[in-house]
Amino acid sequence: MSVTLFDPTQPEATTRQVADYATFDDSSDGTDSDAELMHSPDAPVKKVFIATQGCQMNVYDSEKMGDVLGDSHGMVVTDTIEDADVLLMNTCSIREKAQEKVFSELGRWRKLKEQNPNLVIGVGGCVASQEGDAIQKRAPYVDMVFGPQTLHRLPELYDESTRQHGVKPKNRIGTVDVSFPSIEKFDFLPEPKVEGFKAFVSIMEGCSKYCSFCVVPYTRGEELSRPLDDVLTEIDSLAEQGVREVTLLGQNVNGYRGEKDDGTICRFAELLHYVAHVDGIDRIRYTTSHPLEFTDDIIDAYHLPEMVSHLHLPVQSGSNAVLAGMKRNHTIDVYINQINKLLNVRPDMHLSSDFIIGFPNETDADFEATLQLAKDLNFDHSYSFIYSKRPGTPASDLPDDVPLAVKKERLATFQKVIVDSTLAKTQAMVGTVQRVLVEQVADRHPDELLGTADNMRSVLFKASNEQKVDLLGKFVEVKISEFVSPHMVRGELVGVLR
Ligand code: SF4
Repeated sequence: MSVTLFDPTQPEATTRQVADYATFDDSSDGTDSDAELMHSPDAPVKKVFIATQGCQMNVYDSEKMGDVLGDSHGMVVTDTIEDADVLLMNTCSIREKAQEKVFSELGRWRKLKEQNPNLVIGVGGCVASQEGDAIQKRAPYVDMVFGPQTLHRLPELYDESTRQHGVKPKNRIGTVDVSFPSIEKFDFLPEPKVEGFKAFVSIMEGCSKYCSFCVVPYTRGEELSRPLDDVLTEIDSLAEQGVREVTLLGQNVNGYRGEKDDGTICRFAELLHYVAHVDGIDRIRYTTSHPLEFTDDIIDAYHLPEMVSHLHLPVQSGSNAVLAGMKRNHTIDVYINQINKLLNVRPDMHLSSDFIIGFPNETDADFEATLQLAKDLNFDHSYSFIYSKRPGTPASDLPDDVPLAVKKERLATFQKVIVDSTLAKTQAMVGTVQRVLVEQVADRHPDELLGTADNMRSVLFKASNEQKVDLLGKFVEVKISEFVSPHMVRGELVGVLR
């Protein structure tokens, strides 16, 4: 991956090839080629600070924002907000009171702009998509607004914003773009650059499932898949740069339907086979999935050794009545059946899920069913949240009738089950041999290497100076001897795979 946004150990100057940047020429029409011409070897390098909220899709998008501005304007990403010439907020509307939190953070950024009037402020992501030009109406110091599907147009938006500096928001033209322009964004993103052995690859945008509580179909649009060739070209390029593990990203990757060169459609299971055949890629993860499209051909793909023995399959509730209210369009039996089929192919499968506690009309019995499901399936880990209304979603019309105190009590009970299960799973790793991708010398234990097991646990093991060089980026076998923390274990190296 070309940018590690929040890794303080990452020297800024190495985050990308730095091209220098000069001031704008008013006669420019703002195209990318203009931007190329405007680079000057003597001008100071501009810095962009990107604050990311939300999911892995947003983390991926933030990296791409850094990439496009690096490519077009020679900007480098900085982790120090006070050093930045451009501030970007990549927002998430999943959080409660998301809009208010965005405006409150923008209020802090406004003070920075008062000290430095040339500072350019941009708001992207799902809240931007929902609010559009209302953001500039309420916060006129925001220079540009863009959605998840238009982040590739950031260079043009930036050029327009700097040109129209000081113009009132209502008179500005072309500084807000929250459209859904098919899937063109990927055609305009620079070649991926990576530092490390793992990378995210976005294979689709949006979601067409319309779960009643979720804003994603309204903020990211309907499902749109990248063509197969584009995805494979990106993964080829990552593999050539040393990547060994890819995580395929999308709101609902199971719904992938990428066009092939011959005009036919490649579905997700077939894509997994293609990716498994990319030379150098030896571990495939993906997120996120919907049970409705977790089909038998995907389960069958787990015969591929490259498929990791971990699945994140959100279920949200263990009650059929609540699932119906959520418009998930499947029952608990369907979910359990899918898991059982998968365990037949991969008995060592590690499972994780998402849960919403306290959805409208959730009774004690509904909650007990959710708790029982978590106990029965023995999840490796899970994400659980208290329900709250999201503006614009169908569920927001339902009475939010579970008292907050009840929601909190149920969440605490539920999370204890999950935490206990996580602990037990990590403890049970002691004595087993795990396949580990070696990623780095451990920061706090310089005589040890650090890697990740299939089930996402961090694994430490002693290594000689020679091994600390030779084993980076390799898969090794580690016999686990010690529980370190719920998400970390320690062991001894027993074999090198490749
Ligand atoms: S499948 Fe996921 S992203 Fe799509 S609407 Fe449902 S919760 Fe939202």
